[in-house]
Amino acid sequence: MKNILEQAQKIHGEIVSWRRYFHENAETHLDLPKTTAFVMSKLREFGYEPVEICKSGVLAMAGGKKPGKTFLIRGDMDALPIEEETDLPFKSKTGNMHACGHDFHTAMLLGAAKILKDNEDYVEGTVKLMFQPAEETLAGAKAMVAAGILENPKVDAAMMIHIFSGMPLPDRAVAFSGPGAVSATSDWFKINIKGKGGHGAMPHATIDPLNVAAHIHIALQEINAREIDPERAVVVTVGEMHGGSTGNIIPDTAFLQGTIRTFNDEVREFIKKRLVEISEGIGKTFRCEVTVDLFNSCPSVINDEELSKSIPAYTMELLGKERVLDLYSMTGKTQRMSGSEDFAFVSVEVPSLFLGISASVKVDGITYPQHHPKVVFDESILATGAAVYANSAIHWLKNH
Ligand SMILES: [Zn+2]
Ligand SMILES: [Zn+2]
Repeated sequence: MKNILEQAQKIHGEIVSWRRYFHENAETHLDLPKTTAFVMSKLREFGYEPVEICKSGVLAMAGGKKPGKTFLIRGDMDALPIEEETDLPFKSKTGNMHACGHDFHTAMLLGAAKILKDNEDYVEGTVKLMFQPAEETLAGAKAMVAAGILENPKVDAAMMIHIFSGMPLPDRAVAFSGPGAVSATSDWFKINIKGKGGHGAMPHATIDPLNVAAHIHIALQEINAREIDPERAVVVTVGEMHGGSTGNIIPDTAFLQGTIRTFNDEVREFIKKRLVEISEGIGKTFRCEVTVDLFNSCPSVINDEELSKSIPAYTMELLGKERVLDLYSMTGKTQRMSGSEDFAFVSVEVPSLFLGISASVKVDGITYPQHHPKVVFDESILATGAAVYANSAIHWLKNH
């Protein structure tokens, strides 16, 4: 087999052009008609028979000529509903923006597809390529798992890559977090408060929902401050508060929306329970009707112990020690992030691994974080990403 990194570098220009197409035509959620059409046509061009197993979810398989296990590599394809504010020549023209870098993941996975096809005789088993929609809305991985991506043949191990901007990592580093939970659980909540509106000068004749909204907002912060072990990392954020229209009217209703993040299932269930009790309790105290809805739930991505050892080793062989950051070996503990990642729905089913590649670029002296309308990513890592995907699959299958 030829050197995989060299093969990836040879197609770097192509990967860049694919990435720019995805960037310019950014699409969101489960509606990725242009993106999936492009992905499927490229896959067919490489010799695959891709299948859309659920809305905008594409599966392609490489290998299968030699017996062996099945390794899944995943790239997400959706953008965010953000108006782009960069000066890139291929700036998005759709009103959506690839501000999380999923255009990179799609292009890198396509690059890996090409490399795997060219080396199919060396694949000892099967590689499943998972082109996933709707990561940002936490719906895509779940839909593809429900559509059977982990069966026929059964997946033995799975891996994903996320690129990063604005993280404290050296440029172009490939970073491994260690075993265990690496992303936060996510639960969104909506709190609807129903009072009784009226004249602002006669509050006694009303039931004020804004007063209740304010009390709930403050009280929810006490869950973290007073009821959770300080050893546990927890976030309870209210990101949206609405109610009222002018200064002398007490409105009928008010609304709060927010999200809960943690790394532990027991803590997660406790917070959800207390959030409902506190909100309803304050409603009762001040005579409002309060209803709480929990939705958009996602568990943590759990990194498998064996993959946390084997994949960094294969990657060091591929790229050299300097490019690889094994954060677990360096710090003695697993490095977690408070963001959530819906690859979690794969990781609860099969041994999985999340790895990151640093792709920060400074714009006028500033490195913007992911999800920012001005974020720009470093295209020079595209060949690295494609090579890491293909190399991990080939070597894991060879050794297991
Ligand atoms: Zn994101
Ligand atoms: Zn993302």
